[in-house]
Amino acid sequence: MTWAPGRITEAWTETPGTRSLVIDIPHWPGHIAGQHVDVRLTAEDGYTAVRSYSIASSSTSKRLEITVDKLADGEVSPYLVDVAEVGDMVEIRGPAGGWFIWRQHAGARAGDGENMRPVQLIGGGSGIVPLMSMIRSHGDAHSAAPFRLLYSVRTPERALFRDELVRRAAEDAPLEVTWNFSRATPAGWPTPPERLDREHVMASVFAPAERAAVYVCGSTPFVETVANWLVDAGYDAADIKTERFGGVVPA
Ligand SMILES: Cc1cc2nc3c(=O)[nH]c(=O)nc-3n(C[C@H](O)[C@H](O)[C@H](O)COP(=O)(O)OP(=O)(O)OC[C@H]3O[C@@H](n4cnc5c(N)ncnc54)[C@H](O)[C@@H]3O)c2cc1C
Repeated sequence: MTWAPGRITEAWTETPGTRSLVIDIPHWPGHIAGQHVDVRLTAEDGYTAVRSYSIASSSTSKRLEITVDKLADGEVSPYLVDVAEVGDMVEIRGPAGGWFIWRQHAGARAGDGENMRPVQLIGGGSGIVPLMSMIRSHGDAHSAAPFRLLYSVRTPERALFRDELVRRAAEDAPLEVTWNFSRATPAGWPTPPERLDREHVMASVFAPAERAAVYVCGSTPFVETVANWLVDAGYDAADIKTERFGGVVPA
């Protein structure tokens, strides 16, 4: 894969500290939901920094949209969240990743075998981003495959795509969304905030016998803890795909 010049054409704040960017790249081939791109920034003195960002947009279009969560002491994310402007150029490599992916099959219907396999998504914090691409692709392709999302986030203010998730769960019949708020809940929420635990996960996900395709994404501890709970509960490890955010990509 080679580096291609990309122009930021749209940018907006998703939540305090997170920002979505649309990047236009000539001859962009499109992507599969769950894939990511590498973003390379080059300073005036030639110093470069590369980080991976999941593609947030639906794979039913060729739009390349990423959503970046700012780490206060980070090198790249504060630039993309606070400094980069519409019209700026960045370099992009991708789309990358052939494992943590979900392919939508337009209009998949009952009896359609693998295309109708239930899908269980479990995201922590900004780990929702590649899962959001799967949800958008599923909805935009009018797939009838049963989809469930368990989204764990600290506070309602930090929940990415909250309004869209609520809307899609209401409109897209085969999408169910369960929330876990660990530090503060929305007003009137029926339960107090609590750290995501084994019981909450098992009460929210498809039963192991349903053989759902499972995608877990978030910080390394979040992903490892949740994946271990699922295996303990009888999930086949081969059905669980994980993606861990964090770390530096070689340039
Ligand atoms: C496949 C993949 C997809 C990713 N997709 C996204 C995405 O969609 N949105 C997004 O915001 N990020 C995503 N990331 C994380 C992203 O690549 C960067 O790691 C993140 O933006 C931090 O980069 P930075 O340069 O700001 O921080 P750095 O300068 O790299 O790190 C600053 C400090 O934070 C620590 N750190 C680095 N990354 C994380 C992290 N994710 N969580 C907690 N601590 C961390 C470092 O160890 C260091 O102490 C993804 C990572 C991978 C591997």
